[in-house]
Amino acid sequence: MDYTLDKRATLTALFRGKVDACDADPYLLLAAKFHGVKVARPCPVCEKNALYELKYTFGDQLGQFSGRIKSIEELAQMEKEFGEFRVYIVEVCRECSWNHLCASFLLGDGEVRKPPRRQRTLEDEDWVKR
Ligand SMILES: [Zn+2]
Repeated sequence: MDYTLDKRATLTALFRGKVDACDADPYLLLAAKFHGVKVARPCPVCEKNALYELKYTFGDQLGQFSGRIKSIEELAQMEKEFGEFRVYIVEVCRECSWNHLCASFLLGDGEVRKPPRRQRTLEDEDWVKR
């Protein structure tokens, strides 16, 4: 399964602070489970050590890969490959489901590039749609 956050509505709601505390999208919880990086400090709500950080990347230059979760290492690599993209850091508590958009910042080398050519993915396969 691909945990790309392409459900823009969820992310938009998060950014506007409209997602209620302790009401994480199941999708976010799964993403935290498989891609989250554990944060040293405890959850501000339940105070348990179950806080995970996700780094989402968005940008026109990322093409179809906009919305993916990336590691610090991948971000360092992307910084050299793309002119501009935005990173959103989302914290998710796997105990109480509290979630929060912590920060967003721009990365990239400033050089404008075209988005990569669209590649076939699993979603393009007919059997997935059926
Ligand atoms: Zn919590």
